[in-house]
Amino acid sequence: MRLAEVAVPIPLGRAFTYAVPDALAERVQPGVRVLCDFGRRRLLAVVVTVADRELAPALVGKVRPIVAVLDAEPVLDAELLPFLRELGAYYFAHIGEVLRLALPSVEREQVRALGEQGLLGTARVREVGGRMRQVARAVPAPANPGAVPRGQASAILEHLRASGDHEVTDLVASWGNARAALKRLVAAGLAEIVEREEDLDPFFANAVPRDVPPEATPEQDTAVAAITAALDAGAARGFLLHGVTGSGKTEVYLRAIAACRAASRGALVLVPEIALTPQLVSRFRARFGDDLAVIHSGLTDRERHAMWQRLRGGQVHVAIGARSALFAPVTRLGLVVVDEEHDGSFKQEEGTRYHARDMALLRAHRAGAVSVLGSATPSLETEALARAGRLGRLVLPGRAHRAAVLPRVELVDLKRIGAGPSGHKLLSLPLHRALERTLAAGEQAILFLNRRGFAPAVLCESCGAIAECPACAVALTFHRPRGGRVRCHYCDYDSSVGSCAKCGSARFSLEGLGTERLEETVAQAFPTARVARLDRDVAAGEGAEAVIARMRAGEIDVLVGTQMVTKGHDLPRVTLVGVVNADSSLALPEFRAAERTFQLLVQVAGRAGRADRPGLVIVQTRDPEHPAVAFAARHDVVGFIERELADRQELGYPPFARLALVRVEAMDEALAADTARAFADRAAATEPVVSGDIDVQGPAPAPLARLRGRYRFRVQLRGADRARLRLVLAALARLRDELHDRRVRVTLDVDPVQMM
Ligand code: ADP
Ligand code: ZN
Ligand code: ZN
Repeated sequence: MRLAEVAVPIPLGRAFTYAVPDALAERVQPGVRVLCDFGRRRLLAVVVTVADRELAPALVGKVRPIVAVLDAEPVLDAELLPFLRELGAYYFAHIGEVLRLALPSVEREQVRALGEQGLLGTARVREVGGRMRQVARAVPAPANPGAVPRGQASAILEHLRASGDHEVTDLVASWGNARAALKRLVAAGLAEIVEREEDLDPFFANAVPRDVPPEATPEQDTAVAAITAALDAGAARGFLLHGVTGSGKTEVYLRAIAACRAASRGALVLVPEIALTPQLVSRFRARFGDDLAVIHSGLTDRERHAMWQRLRGGQVHVAIGARSALFAPVTRLGLVVVDEEHDGSFKQEEGTRYHARDMALLRAHRAGAVSVLGSATPSLETEALARAGRLGRLVLPGRAHRAAVLPRVELVDLKRIGAGPSGHKLLSLPLHRALERTLAAGEQAILFLNRRGFAPAVLCESCGAIAECPACAVALTFHRPRGGRVRCHYCDYDSSVGSCAKCGSARFSLEGLGTERLEETVAQAFPTARVARLDRDVAAGEGAEAVIARMRAGEIDVLVGTQMVTKGHDLPRVTLVGVVNADSSLALPEFRAAERTFQLLVQVAGRAGRADRPGLVIVQTRDPEHPAVAFAARHDVVGFIERELADRQELGYPPFARLALVRVEAMDEALAADTARAFADRAAATEPVVSGDIDVQGPAPAPLARLRGRYRFRVQLRGADRARLRLVLAALARLRDELHDRRVRVTLDVDPVQMM
């Protein structure tokens, strides 16, 4: 009997067995989408495997047949499908949910056809089709025509007869009342209105002039040669491309991709946040033109689908995008690039919690492709792979523009140095003076501060209580707009200030400094300067791209912002970067706090003095001796890595150990705690924990103990041996899958990044 294992898009770990009816035998193959009945529902699912075999006696008479097949060819091909299965297995994720990450939408025609054959049943399918446009046409030989209406209707009819079909909206544009007139023409049987799919092609819309590649530096040449040699050898080789900011890593990627294309293979490029790097994308566009698919969250379903089809069909061979572009169906994959590989945004923090950088290595390896992880501040994980010889190391030691040198970094010890003329502690005298000089020279400055909003805490003046979010265990942030609001940065809570929840007083003081307040403080201190802000609040309105464009056009003198200003913008007129408070990210209760802070400091410092003007970076801190700060000030990436690796080894943290978290969340605190306890107990009963190879911590409340009304607990697993850790995780995954309490949410987080 022919049986298929089918993954259904519901949170159940395994695939399910269905019978393949003879009539569908030809078409049911791995990677095609099918409709099948699951309980009382009809679902869209994906075939994982097909085999002729005996049915287990217990299943005889119980397997149901596959109802219909949607695709003539697999939508997940022989490269992607096994990769996704391995990804799912690595993260102990539900196979249906994993496959969903890579599935295209279903075309409207297909859905319509299934509906007409009565096969759709209760299935709800996310369909994609063109925007329909209404087209008016004259009926060529009307059977029983009514009298030709007069006036506008007759003019329109004549127009249609003379010059063919017209879109209704065009007719409205010329005649205003065209809709009413058309209605009369249709009623008279003289004209008809048909729906046609809009013929839209989002990728080839505006041509971009091609660039002329600069002559490569010797270091770039060496790096490209190593990558090309690996491509030629057809080896699944990986590289760490370690180059200081502005060293020309992008040029290395571009050349490597060109070499890959010359060998008729495809390439995939992952970048941290594509909306923030339009400039990077335009450099790829300028080199590869129409051969590039840009995948980003702003695409409509239809655009995304068209992109998917072009890649899948082999018309486009290079894809660039953020995390989810990992699943782009690039054919004959030859090269995978991960730019800024250290960036935390490569980790998906909901649903299937995969790490796109780690999985990019896996996908490349399976596909026999070359991988390149690029960064100025490599993650310790990647550094460890390079040290173990599992990644080749390529180094770009200097900036590409000969004249551009790394900026001078000056530390301002906030314990000793007070406020400048503005009177605000966090605008110290040295920072104030440096801003003055920069403005006087007609150059630009960036001020980086990790907190958006006006003030990060709202304090009751009579009882001293801090205003907290009613749904989360976090302080509310005061925001300026709309007469002042308090907002929670973790949920959607947004309210006017009101009165103290503890004592009812309505007098508050605003504590601390957020980007809104910094913007205001700087604007007051430098009344003639043009000051602007870039953070998530601005990005949601004007858009990050617009702010960066104004900065590049020289319409802004001082740009104040959060992490968004640290991303790889190439802004040649920026000569001063101020890090307003380096300590805020050091204080986070995460074992990567120092690494993150270091990376942030080096990246933001990299914004200064990119072209031919020397840059200055001022870092304000209460802890200038902290290694993350001190090494960043010396641009000593290797020194920091050595020091931090030693610390991690001593404390037994990644990359010397492997971590996993069980996260448990529920509205009911006791339920969340009890469930977490059950997981800790189950872990404790497993052999690797009993024998001491894997260490269990918790259950304990998460650092963010309550979010969106849910209490959060966690159990941490840690051990040096991956296989031993996986044994424990397998037991916990079984427990998770046996748990049928809808009030609790249990997530396994393998190789966690966010520890909060
Ligand atoms: P990274 O990606 O390492 O931060 P970029 O690729 O953005 O560096 O390069 C920094 C700047 O140097 C860019 O303006 C780029 O056009 C320029 N550049 C890169 N390679 C060369 C080269 N070989 N010759 C001249 N300029 C170059
Ligand atoms: Zn109070
Ligand atoms: Zn909240």
